Amino acid sequence: MYTSFDETHLEKIVRLLKSHQSKFLSGQKLSQSLNLSRAAVWKYIKKLQSLGYKIQSRQNLGYKLVSKPDYLLPWELTDGLQTDIFGRKIYYFDTIDSTQNFALRLASKPYENGSVVIAKRQSKGRGRLNRKWISPKGGIWLSILLKPNFEVWQVSLFPMLTSLALTKAVENVLKLKPRLKWPNDVTLNDKKVAGILIDASIESNKIDYLVIGVGINFRIEPRIVSRLLKNSQKFYGITSLVGNKEKADSVELVQEFLYELEQSYYKVMSNNLKGITKEWTKRSSTIGKNVTVSTPSGPVKGKAIAIDENGALILSSKGKIQRVLAGDVSYRN
Ligand code: ADP
Repeated sequence: MYTSFDETHLEKIVRLLKSHQSKFLSGQKLSQSLNLSRAAVWKYIKKLQSLGYKIQSRQNLGYKLVSKPDYLLPWELTDGLQTDIFGRKIYYFDTIDSTQNFALRLASKPYENGSVVIAKRQSKGRGRLNRKWISPKGGIWLSILLKPNFEVWQVSLFPMLTSLALTKAVENVLKLKPRLKWPNDVTLNDKKVAGILIDASIESNKIDYLVIGVGINFRIEPRIVSRLLKNSQKFYGITSLVGNKEKADSVELVQEFLYELEQSYYKVMSNNLKGITKEWTKRSSTIGKNVTVSTPSGPVKGKAIAIDENGALILSSKGKIQRVLAGDVSYRN
């Protein structure tokens, strides 16, 4: 595990190398700035190289950063992060059972509001209702822990707010136009590129904590993941946000997503959510369609006409209006 707060030497070396990107930085200068021996600097350079940084080293000249790895190392994420709370502490794993489970365990510790848990792969990623979430290398698997002072009903806003924040981040950073499938799927060409999972602990009508899980098929091999999912009940096809060799920065995407989501969080805090349903609806593929929603109490059919300010889906069928709080949507005709 690496964190954004323990690895201060690695982080400083990366920042110094970045600020000298086109030139060599002497080992002497690095060791003076960091107050470390030359041997210790060398050890950290080796460590960075093993993490995927390409660093040239030349005798008498020093070190030069050629490229950084394409995954979400915590000090890369905090470098340029525009948030106050979200992602101020980051825990990063090469492999973990589930980022959501780790974040749930963090909840009992102090000073973890806004902490983010990220993994390169998950061995037991989960979706809603304990469904499996396939999480190979190349995806973005993360969870955010919040200990908010909200009212309990406000938890139900988070699927809508999170999927909207992610969609906006994808629009801004990758210049793509994903759509939203109620309640919280993000799709591209009608295939799923991301899913969201909210776990909350509520005690005596107060939110103790909330963990927002997000799985993004950033750069995965859709065929391989699809094969594993073909028999799963609600499968309607998956896709990857970016292609295998396409240039795209997952760090920038996550930074933008955390920023957008934090803005929504502030809006919930100040009870200023006007416009959110409109923004969601504008990007929705669900509204206007004839749908079947599987709910815990059976299927509900109708035309999806709106979502209300709590994120519930409003259906109209033969002149009757129904409000659905949770379920899986499939599109008809
Ligand atoms: P969401 O989390 O999107 O609300 P679910 O909780 O239903 O949806 O997610 C679990 C379902 O998502 C699984 O049953 C499976 O069909 C599908 N799924 C699992 N892994 C992936 C993946 N990497 N990409 C897209 N869909 C997936």
